Amino acid sequence: CKRNPNESEFHQAVKEILDSLVPVLAKEPKYMENGILERLVEPERLIIFRVPWVDDQGNVRVNRGYRVQFNSAIGPYKGGLRFHPSVNSSIIKFLGFEQILKNSLTGQPIGGGKGGSDFDPKGKSDAEVMRFTQSFMTELYKYIGSDVDVPAGDIGVGAREIGFLFGQYKRIRGGNEAGVLTGKGIPYGGSLARPEATGYGTVYFVNEMLKDKGDSLEGKTVVVSGSGNVAIYAIQKAAQFGAKVVACSDSSGYVYDPEGINFETVQKLKEVERKRISDYVKEHPGAQYFEGCSNIWSIPCDIALPCATQNEIDAEAAQLLVRNGVKAVAEGANMPSTLAAIDVFLENGVLFGPAKAANAGGVAVSALEMSQNSIRTSWTFEEVDEKLHQIMINIYNNSAQAAEQYGYPGNLVVGANIAGFVKVADAMIAQGVI
Ligand code: NDP
Repeated sequence: CKRNPNESEFHQAVKEILDSLVPVLAKEPKYMENGILERLVEPERLIIFRVPWVDDQGNVRVNRGYRVQFNSAIGPYKGGLRFHPSVNSSIIKFLGFEQILKNSLTGQPIGGGKGGSDFDPKGKSDAEVMRFTQSFMTELYKYIGSDVDVPAGDIGVGAREIGFLFGQYKRIRGGNEAGVLTGKGIPYGGSLARPEATGYGTVYFVNEMLKDKGDSLEGKTVVVSGSGNVAIYAIQKAAQFGAKVVACSDSSGYVYDPEGINFETVQKLKEVERKRISDYVKEHPGAQYFEGCSNIWSIPCDIALPCATQNEIDAEAAQLLVRNGVKAVAEGANMPSTLAAIDVFLENGVLFGPAKAANAGGVAVSALEMSQNSIRTSWTFEEVDEKLHQIMINIYNNSAQAAEQYGYPGNLVVGANIAGFVKVADAMIAQGVI
């Protein structure tokens, strides 16, 4: 804490991971040697830079850009860019730290990184977003490359932003290094099923958790928070598995639709028209809109999928979910549950899928996008979806097995952290003290 003051989100992520590594550290002394833990929590580098741009009124604006290159033991740094006013060093470092073990869990050769800016794309014109992203890339390009560091999207960074970033990268570097960014549009090197991957992957993970208990998603009531990239495709996939999603949200409020949230409406409102979730009720008069997003967890459900942002479920919300009979919680977002909320779920026998396992589908398909770019091919939607599904099954099995092996059967927080850690730590030991 002294070394990284005022970085509460980073402290939270480190605490969750280090606490759950205790069983493996006790059994395998080599992981306590070689400065493994000390090196793991220290980023290889954190780059912070000025991003000046000109708004539509001709005013000069200045934002701050970040890229953390946390750990490259198993491959090039990989992790998204977040554009949101809350972005600071703590947020970027917690996300980058989590990303190390998440990427390891996918079974693919990718290290951990993350980046972004405190720029708020909301309410900005396309031209403003383009000028900002071009300025951002004019600095970022120095540090990235298809074998070095491969950014992607996250909150506030979707297909539009990735397109502008890629255009500016090519303009500066020349050539056509498609593998430098993932989440690209289909006509210029993107992968089919990438937009769907995180949301679909989270639901595939839930399916595995339930299957292990002889249960399924069929007929279950689901609450999904958020209505962005992850939430939209979690809503679609949950419905395809026979569940009924009754609520979703944005940062202003939530909608409850007893008939089941209409996926097409949410997709149109959020992806095409960039409107608020409150507009949903104009097209579905049977639904209700409530101001304020946190009360969404008061809706009784069998399955909760937090897909918006960090710390959106605290202990109180977790207790409410438990009282209302929740059976499974899977984190589509990064660190949406506080440490106290996770304790509530685990103590009450709720099946709990932690973010680094449950939402790893997005980065897994990003790595598949890199593979397709390298061999200059494009797989069909079905091929990518099938690979994604298998990766999520493997992540579940590896996490469940590690939990069992180290004496915490059913605890996927412990299992996912250990399964991800062992591979990274072994690679760090093999490569010496660097
Ligand atoms: P989007 O920007 O597409 O959507 C974010 C959603 O969350 C929006 O509905 C947004 O509402 C809401 N939201 C954002 N900030 C807050 C807040 N402070 N309080 C309440 N609601 C908020 O982002 P994504 O869907 O891509 O990302 C969502 C989460 O999933 C993040 O934690 C991200 O790190 C994680 N994730 C994303 C992956 C991906 O592939 N996209 C991969 C793995 C994890 P509003 O529109 O009002 O801001």
